[in-house]
Amino acid sequence: MRDRSMRDNRPAYWRQRRVVAALGGGGDGPLVAPPVAAGRPEGWFTVHLGFTAPGPAVARERAVGYAEALSLLCPELALGASALSPADAWHRAERLFCGAPGPDGERCADVAGHPGFHHAPGPGGLGWGDGD
Ligand SMILES: [Zn+2]
Repeated sequence: MRDRSMRDNRPAYWRQRRVVAALGGGGDGPLVAPPVAAGRPEGWFTVHLGFTAPGPAVARERAVGYAEALSLLCPELALGASALSPADAWHRAERLFCGAPGPDGERCADVAGHPGFHHAPGPGGLGWGDGD
């Protein structure tokens, strides 16, 4: 386990900066809603969005962008619960975000399968794990 000095290694946040810049915003606060704690709260629901893409890799990238953009507008969304599947094949849903548990109970907000360190939500979020 790495210490907090690794927090400056934050490759996960280029997407957030790009989204904020596209919206004409900025600032130092967290840009993406933190994931909901483990377990499903009472009254848990999901929403399904449809879109087209030329292939699975582009679809995943677009889905991550949609989820992050929605979480900017609606911080109550559980970003870490976002998943992608081919249309009408919900049994093949794959999570969009890593969600690895961190040393202080946080969850990694980077995309699923990302290389390097895990990263807690927000620009100042903790980085941990075995990075490159
Ligand atoms: Zn991670």
